[in-house]
Amino acid sequence: MNEPEKQNTSFREKPILPRDGSNESIWQGSTFRHQLTNSPENTEESCDVVIVGGGITGFTAAVRLQEQGKSVILAEAHTVAYGTTGGTSAHINTFADTTYAEVEQNFGYDSAKLFARAIQEAVDTIHTHAATYRIDCDLETKDAYVYAEDESQQKELDSLLESALRAGVNADVVAGSPLPIPALKVIRLPGQAQFHPLKYLTGLRKVFEALGGIVLEHTRIEDVEQEENGLIARSGDRKLRTRAVVYATHITPGGVNALHFLNAPYRSYVLAVTLNDDAYPDDLVYDMQEPYHYFRSHVIDGQKYLIVGGNDHKTGHDDPEVAFQELETYTKEHFNVKDIAYRWSSQYYVPADGLPYIGKMPGSPNGLYTATGYNGNGMILGTIAGKILSDLVRERENPYAELFDPGRIKPLAINPELIKENADVAYHFIADRLSAEELDSLRDVPEDTGMIAKIGGKKVAVYKSPSGEVHTLSPVCPHAHCYVNWNASEKSWDCPCHGARFSPEGQLITGPARKDLEKLTLPA
Ligand SMILES: Cc1cc2nc3c(=O)[nH]c(=O)nc-3n(C[C@H](O)[C@H](O)[C@H](O)COP(=O)(O)OP(=O)(O)OC[C@H]3O[C@@H](n4cnc5c(N)ncnc54)[C@H](O)[C@@H]3O)c2cc1C
Repeated sequence: MNEPEKQNTSFREKPILPRDGSNESIWQGSTFRHQLTNSPENTEESCDVVIVGGGITGFTAAVRLQEQGKSVILAEAHTVAYGTTGGTSAHINTFADTTYAEVEQNFGYDSAKLFARAIQEAVDTIHTHAATYRIDCDLETKDAYVYAEDESQQKELDSLLESALRAGVNADVVAGSPLPIPALKVIRLPGQAQFHPLKYLTGLRKVFEALGGIVLEHTRIEDVEQEENGLIARSGDRKLRTRAVVYATHITPGGVNALHFLNAPYRSYVLAVTLNDDAYPDDLVYDMQEPYHYFRSHVIDGQKYLIVGGNDHKTGHDDPEVAFQELETYTKEHFNVKDIAYRWSSQYYVPADGLPYIGKMPGSPNGLYTATGYNGNGMILGTIAGKILSDLVRERENPYAELFDPGRIKPLAINPELIKENADVAYHFIADRLSAEELDSLRDVPEDTGMIAKIGGKKVAVYKSPSGEVHTLSPVCPHAHCYVNWNASEKSWDCPCHGARFSPEGQLITGPARKDLEKLTLPA
């Protein structure tokens, strides 16, 4: 086997496929490089449906609608797969972060069964897409193993197992764990899968374009207006006239709407490592820690990698470098690591009552749809969202539409964590205005670093580029006016309240904000 290419972001050539962070994910490597091309300039100005966002949700909905005879334009603010789909770990599961026990408790037994059915349909859909469209995306069927390391975890594991069985999901108890980590009890859930998410997305994109669909990259939809005969999705001077707009943006941009308060942004960390031995797990494995670790292997260009994720925390709260260090220490404690080839982090949204929000946008004009709140399960939930949304746009019934309806009101199901999340938003709104490091001179800021500083009594977000150029910005997120924090690892300004993110120079990376951070000119 060839020696793996040394892949350290500090000297690695920038990947052609960009992502919403400066660390490179394993999926952005060379195999993929020549397959994604930018769309040619296109002047098409009207269509049946505008899909906003080029991740797994957007392309699943786009292919389905185009296949069903609708004319579809997919608008992506950056390039295809720029969002979390480019930074996922791509486990395809028959269970979710919200356990069937939790769904049963909050929504009832029938809903837990329906949730399991939706998830199974998503898994089947990915297999069908790969087979029907001949998408070579390394799709493989796997078992999943979940293990408990102490008695309290074992209780939770028992509840997970029993509720999965009640919901009709295949699972059993097994004797040993596939990892070199001691376990008290292990359960196995067959019928899982894994794939290369960007090969899959490229495949869907090709099908979509072959069917006549149009992809507009570098096209941020800034606003959607209602007019007499439908909607106008606006991007700068460009106007797309349409009957329906689907926000497949992971979080719905614009305004401060109910969905922003019902979704908490979290960051998860991933390492792809090579080992000195052959302890790569063949299957998908999860522990029961809080936050949990997730493990799998993937072969890319002949090299096998162990992919380990975890150390999740709320966006903008903990130090990303510490999260990476802890994940690295943990991985090295349990595996004989040869090389850390990739490390990256990405963002996901935790829904208030445990289920995703997929359907008509509450309180918006007819024809506006959204899909968000997938937790760490967007491969399956984004896939089922694509199916639900395409049915809703065509005014067809869908068996899962009611369960995931964003307009559902289940106050009793709302996790007490959400109350904490919103108190936390209020905390950041006030406390961040008070504290900051007093800086005498911008010369004190190290190169390639951002910091929130007090300059002449005023709080300023300062970034100094590697070449010494200084950018001074307002630290106030234009979405809900919380203060952003510097993410030293992904090199971005992250808002701790609703997860808006900005480049070091203040340009909007991802919503729910719609504007850049304001540039500040400081007195000389
Ligand atoms: C580290 C990590 C590991 C994960 N692992 C798994 C896993 O193993 N299995 C699993 O099922 N799920 C996993 N998830 C979750 C899953 O990856 C996501 O839920 C999923 O990728 C979301 O897909 P999406 O298409 O909805 O959003 P995204 O992939 O984020 O795509 C949204 C797109 O919309 C674009 N956009 C935003 N605003 C606009 C606008 N105004 N105009 C135009 N375009 C816009 C963005 O640029 C972006 O490209 C993981 C998440 C993280 C963070």
